[in-house]
Amino acid sequence: PNTSSSSVICENEASSGSAVVTYLELCEVFELIEATTKRIQITKYLQNFFLTCIQRDPDSLICPDAEGKEFGIGESLIMKAIGQVTGSTLALIKKEHSKKGDLGQVAQDNKKGQKRIDHSFSAKNTNKMKKGLTIAQVFDTLYEIASISGTKSQVTKIDKIVRILMQCQDQEPKFFVRSLEGKLRIGLAERTGLQFPSPLKLMSLSVLAALARSFVLSDPNSKNLKEDKLEKELSKADAILKQVFSEIPNYDVIIPALLRYGIGELPDHCKLTPGFPLKPMLAHPTKSLTEVLDRFEGMTFTCEYKYDGERAQIHQFRDASGEKKLMVFSRNSENLSAKYPDIIVQMPEAPIDVVESFVLDCEAVAWDVSKKCILPFQVLQTRKRKDVQEEDVLVSVCIFAFDLLYLNGEAITGKCLKERRALMFQNFKEIEGKFAFAKSIDTKNIEEIQTFLDDSIIGNCEGLMVKTLESEATYEPSKRSRNWLKVKKDYLEGFGDTLDLVVIGAYFGKGKRTGVYGGYLLACFDEESEKFQTICKIGTGFSEANLTDQFKFFQDIIDVDGPSESYSYSDTPNHKPDIWFHPKIVFEVKAADLSISPVHQAATGLIDGNEEKGISLRCKLPIINRVLDVKDMYESQVSVQNGKSENNGATGVDDDFEY
Ligand code: ATP
Repeated sequence: PNTSSSSVICENEASSGSAVVTYLELCEVFELIEATTKRIQITKYLQNFFLTCIQRDPDSLICPDAEGKEFGIGESLIMKAIGQVTGSTLALIKKEHSKKGDLGQVAQDNKKGQKRIDHSFSAKNTNKMKKGLTIAQVFDTLYEIASISGTKSQVTKIDKIVRILMQCQDQEPKFFVRSLEGKLRIGLAERTGLQFPSPLKLMSLSVLAALARSFVLSDPNSKNLKEDKLEKELSKADAILKQVFSEIPNYDVIIPALLRYGIGELPDHCKLTPGFPLKPMLAHPTKSLTEVLDRFEGMTFTCEYKYDGERAQIHQFRDASGEKKLMVFSRNSENLSAKYPDIIVQMPEAPIDVVESFVLDCEAVAWDVSKKCILPFQVLQTRKRKDVQEEDVLVSVCIFAFDLLYLNGEAITGKCLKERRALMFQNFKEIEGKFAFAKSIDTKNIEEIQTFLDDSIIGNCEGLMVKTLESEATYEPSKRSRNWLKVKKDYLEGFGDTLDLVVIGAYFGKGKRTGVYGGYLLACFDEESEKFQTICKIGTGFSEANLTDQFKFFQDIIDVDGPSESYSYSDTPNHKPDIWFHPKIVFEVKAADLSISPVHQAATGLIDGNEEKGISLRCKLPIINRVLDVKDMYESQVSVQNGKSENNGATGVDDDFEY
């Protein structure tokens, strides 16, 4: 069919009278999606919703650009707003929250049993209330909330939240509050870097497929197509949109273009464009070099250092006024240009003269200027994130480039890595301490790769990235691809230390983890003070089944009088656990790095220059090797099994044993 939608929309507007799509209609779709796990069903719900939007109110598909914005509101502020609107006390809301694990649900239930309506709410607003909220009203408000800064910002934010919450009905409070928390919990959202889970910011394939299909179906000619022909058109549209989205994952650009040109012409109008971040390609984890060699058997591949810093997608282009512009984007498409003024200054020296525009995929790594070496990730973390002035920069960064995606007006993501890398080497030059190419070797010899891996770790890197070079070697935006394998020291057998840590508390789970513990507070034991000092919280690395079993298991060791005097912990709100345990269970945790912490207590007083601070364990991926029950261990000791104790006593009982 002719899928140019502009004419389609005009016809539909004429027939439908373009009635505005309400926020309630959107929430009803969210509710349907929440109730199913079937992808096909989800796509259908979304498709019908998008079709309604295209036919009745195309503008409802266009949301304000939320680039790099965050709401900057915590749970307590949302709770306050719920209290103001519903008359519930903060204590009650908190209690319900820990029971239900979903502040959205709490808002909805409280709204239903609402005791009090704020009388300052004018008659004009009450009229609006009757008409119902529109999508634009809600998302404009979300955008405004994210844009507010300054001293009185919290008051203004709460006021805006209250105003919308007052007008919310049925399912609306649930989804509005979840939006504010940045998670809709309907199983659609991927990590987007954008805090707006608007219908179109949910970058999942279901949304893309539904959007593509709805545009095909909005063409009246599609009704005349036979089923198989229509199915073909739908899959074609699906493929087009997926491709376009991977090059320019930005609905603010795609939707207006879709409305204007239709899906068929979309690729001509929406292409990888410097200035718009591309969703980066990601890697699969592996446990050994032999696993890597098995996967890449018969293929050419390269091994690169896996630098431990922050992903930096660097774009250079000419803006509308013809000025050369440089921008840096994060792994999650956040604009980091204000965080790295030094990169903006040092990068233009890297391309050789003929380079007009480019997109480089890189890692920004902390750099020791005097020793000329890489510094650990924790040093990079000490840099300020916002409004950094070049003269304030205390930690220098060196850019390690590992891929070139766009060069002089052309996307080169479809070329293989070997060609992309050759173009990168030809068009850029290294500048000591500022810009370098990722160190690499192209070899299949396992001993050479092992040595290269060892060297990478000695050089403060995380391990290796191993990538296909020729076949299956295009750049796959947004994919966790099997053509990129990461070999991290933390995952490797024999690498990375393990620590035996005592579980001293737990946090109630939220969302899917409601009814079980969502995380634990772990401590190490300081012999001198005879205290358990907190060292980290862990919440990942468990299966749902694990958590259910553990929940039952831990019931027996809950310390109802807790916290015990032998615990050293911080009393801050996000740190203090919801429940305390007697120190009887030890988790053996395989961990990444240790870093200085303002909240954790391990080794407090012992760190030069940071006497008030403790040490925390960075568990990017904590691996629980075993759960050690101290009692079982004790009982399994041969001496105890033989009825003897090494402790001079005949009974094998040691009063201090637990500790
Ligand atoms: P991780 O915690 O391992 O960084 P991740 O999910 O952020 O996980 P992965 O795909 O697992 O990302 O690992 C790739 C990341 O490693 C990239 O996002 C990038 O920041 C970093 N990196 C460092 N060196 C390289 C390299 N040579 N090639 C690709 N990515 C690299």
